[in-house]
Amino acid sequence: MALIYVEEHMPFHIFKKEGNGPGQQPPPPQPPTSLNLGTIKFKTTNITNDYTISSRTLGVGINGKVVECFNKRTNQKYALKALRKSAKAYRECALHWMVRSHQNIVNVIDVYENTFSGTKCYLMVMECMEGRELFERIQSKGDDAFTEKEASKITRQICEALSCLHSKNIAHRDIKPENLLFKNSDADAVLKLTDFGFASEVVSGLKLKTPCFTPYYAAPEVLGPEKYDMSCDMWSLGVIIYILICGYPPFHTEGGAPMSPGMKKRIRQGDYNFPDPEWSNVSASAKELIRGLLCTDVTRRFTINQCMNHPWIKDTNSVPETPLMSARILNEEADMWVDKKEEMNNALNQMRINYDNVIKLGNMDAIHMSNPILKRRQNKKDVTTTTDGLA
Ligand code: ADP
Repeated sequence: MALIYVEEHMPFHIFKKEGNGPGQQPPPPQPPTSLNLGTIKFKTTNITNDYTISSRTLGVGINGKVVECFNKRTNQKYALKALRKSAKAYRECALHWMVRSHQNIVNVIDVYENTFSGTKCYLMVMECMEGRELFERIQSKGDDAFTEKEASKITRQICEALSCLHSKNIAHRDIKPENLLFKNSDADAVLKLTDFGFASEVVSGLKLKTPCFTPYYAAPEVLGPEKYDMSCDMWSLGVIIYILICGYPPFHTEGGAPMSPGMKKRIRQGDYNFPDPEWSNVSASAKELIRGLLCTDVTRRFTINQCMNHPWIKDTNSVPETPLMSARILNEEADMWVDKKEEMNNALNQMRINYDNVIKLGNMDAIHMSNPILKRRQNKKDVTTTTDGLA
């Protein structure tokens, strides 16, 4: 029977056979967590009336698996994300729903509220993104040249998504590679932003103060007790552009350490550089944009509007087609990249548990760290010679 199949393969092992069928009383609506969340109408019919849930996992996040599902009428493939019902989950669904139609945001097709084994869940049916995550795709380019112009075009798509969000006073607050997915494997596939699990509306006159961040992508002010807002997204964008261009992050920690004091200090001080040979042929315009985004002074950091008007973003056709080393480095250092992502997620989990932990980290003595990927590459004799072909 279909529902038994569902029980076996749903992201949570919490599903029971009865849903909130048409004849059943729907549960009372969850109060929105902010005044402007808008209205979202969850279907209370059983999702399996409309969709067949596949056993294929598309990805795993902090809330569990995102699995493949198929519309029973059209047989069209979609992605299904299940969340236990909570105010936070409501906010994720409602904010994502508000911006779902933007071309650079993963579309949400249907939202259900069903009950499984007594647990109420929100089920988000999203368009299926089959082109992999941002850096996996760049990584797979290997020796095929990835150029500064391509990096600029990719970045522009992220900016378009952020522009939509920020114009609606929504901060995403979890801008990281895993949340940037390509629609398909076409060379010109669209890049879209997903996972609004930490998104928040900026209520007029108030600054966001909830500690939600991933360390590599976290703006300096979130590492201390200061308040922060949409400028966090701009900082994270700066980090993503930096990696797109050179293949390693501007800030780093020692292997295994979720968030070292050294890394914290470097982030706080904006202590990064543009080392050769990876950066020697990169345009001054790209570096200027990164400086504007990684600016530690929030009042001077580029806003999304400034970013959209920056020549490297606004005029992508005039960005030089300089071959970048990022594809090769991401590929060669793939083993470390996996660790880095793991570290990021460990730290993210750890820091979400208790904001006080972050404050305590701030009191630890800073120690000097060198960028492990860069260090390893500097030890490789052939690194400098590889730049010859990049001019
Ligand atoms: P979480 O909030 O639990 O972290 P995410 O929304 O980030 O979950 O999704 C986890 C992973 O699932 C993503 O990194 C991605 O690999 C995959 N994924 C998410 N949404 C889709 C989608 N619409 N299409 C294909 N894969 C997806």
